[in-house]
Amino acid sequence: MKQQTCLVCGMNIMATMDHCPKCDNDLRSQHDGSTFTIDIAHQGESVSEALKKMQGEIDLARQDVVMRIRLVVGSGMIRDEAMLYLRDLEHRGEIKDFDLELSNAGAILVRLK
Ligand SMILES: [Zn+2]
Repeated sequence: MKQQTCLVCGMNIMATMDHCPKCDNDLRSQHDGSTFTIDIAHQGESVSEALKKMQGEIDLARQDVVMRIRLVVGSGMIRDEAMLYLRDLEHRGEIKDFDLELSNAGAILVRLK
């Protein structure tokens, strides 16, 4: 059974549902509004350019009302390095947590607050 994660409360829910049974959030709208999607891997970026771009976007988002960033990282080096970098940010408390998107391993969901 395909699953999705409620981005508001983190609950795992069947992909066929369109409202979270726990917090009643509209799941279909969760990728809009408070979630920013940023592609850091598909414009020919080097690993260091991608990480710089990611840090810049996180800095911007932290000053804003944005709760989550969805980083499109592809499946290569950029993803591996981004995961290491995010782990470091998580330790320093600059982000709350992060995880690979369940339905798409080429994207990382970063919770800022
Ligand atoms: Zn929920």
